[in-house]
Amino acid sequence: MKYDYLIVGAGLYGSVFAHEANKRNKKCLVIDKRNHKGGNVFCENVEGINVHKYGAHIFHTNDDELWRYVNQFVTFNNFVNSPIATAKGKLYNLPFNMNTFYQLWGTKTPEEAKAKINSQIQEFGTDNPSNLEEQAISLVGKDIYETLIKEYTEKQWGKKATDLPSFIIKRLPVRFTFDNNYFKDKYQGIPIGGYNVLIDKLLEGIEVRTNVDYFSDKDAFDQLAAKVVFTGKIDEYFNYCFEPLEYRSLEFDTQRLEIDNYQGNAVVNYNDKEFTYTRIIEHKHFEFGNQAHTVITKEYPKDWDLSKEAYYPINDEVNQAKYELYKEKALSIPNVIFGGRLAEYRYYDMHQIIASALKRIKTEFNES
Ligand code: FAD
Repeated sequence: MKYDYLIVGAGLYGSVFAHEANKRNKKCLVIDKRNHKGGNVFCENVEGINVHKYGAHIFHTNDDELWRYVNQFVTFNNFVNSPIATAKGKLYNLPFNMNTFYQLWGTKTPEEAKAKINSQIQEFGTDNPSNLEEQAISLVGKDIYETLIKEYTEKQWGKKATDLPSFIIKRLPVRFTFDNNYFKDKYQGIPIGGYNVLIDKLLEGIEVRTNVDYFSDKDAFDQLAAKVVFTGKIDEYFNYCFEPLEYRSLEFDTQRLEIDNYQGNAVVNYNDKEFTYTRIIEHKHFEFGNQAHTVITKEYPKDWDLSKEAYYPINDEVNQAKYELYKEKALSIPNVIFGGRLAEYRYYDMHQIIASALKRIKTEFNES
């Protein structure tokens, strides 16, 4: 066999695994069916602006060791995610904080804001919420729900909030400080030069072939290496024998505009249902770009079928049960490692994917 590992998927999981295996003197071949490396963190450079092709990606973590790990490869800028929401003709700061409460009600102190929220929870909330609407109102009251959650969530899931299960929203953090920083993590930012720099560094010195679908000749690919690391869809690996696992999909409409600043912020959410997109990303603001042009992307949530990109797993009972069947089957194939968001049918943030690949490496090489 020519290689120790055939790694299917040049996303973050495959790239971290390949890097670490290569460091341990293992010969790796990485293949990806797309025409580029990086999976969903890939950026396309449009005259100096890194366009996040598969949705806005902001790196964040609380983990010192993981932060040190990624900083070996890239330096991060000091971008802080502070999204804006538009609703019923007005702008609001997110996440829900003292600025949002002032914009909603004119409340100026934490006490006033708390009193407003609590009185609405008492008046409209319930102890046993039976759907997402009741759950959200019981957590943050009616005004925040109706202005900033209801229509956005309904667009996102393609269903009425009263038809969505309450467990989708476990917590809705409210902050009684004037703090628009979306993440609570110790570290966040965007890699200087974009995510492709990170992927290129991880895959330095490793053979990578793009435009290659593993399933186009699985048997031949399997012959190439002693072990396979599979980061594609686990149900596809088993020919959908237990029926496909379901996802929510997205469509992106990206436009280049000959103006220097379209919306003044990287992320603007559109809550009202009259806009069929949920948000507009203006990519240059992730890296404080000062180009004369700009690039924006409208993000449309879509129902998923096998012809569409799989973005968000629907981890309800039915799909989770199907996944368990696939997982059991996967465990019976000792020379294939199933890892990453598609093979594990799980939403992972980037820091979690890196941590998961590093954990798998430790098991693989019997390191403590
Ligand atoms: P992927 O990046 O999907 O890589 C899998 C690769 O496998 C793909 O390139 C695919 O082409 C390839 N592949 C699949 N099947 C085959 C096959 N048969 N043959 C060959 N190749 C194959 N995380 C954050 O931390 N911050 C964010 O702000 C953030 N924003 C996000 C926004 C959106 C819209 C989404 C969907 C995710 C976001 N994430 C974010 C999560 C982040 O994208 C993931 O953690 C990460 O990309 C997962 O990496 P992966 O390698 O598991 O999967």
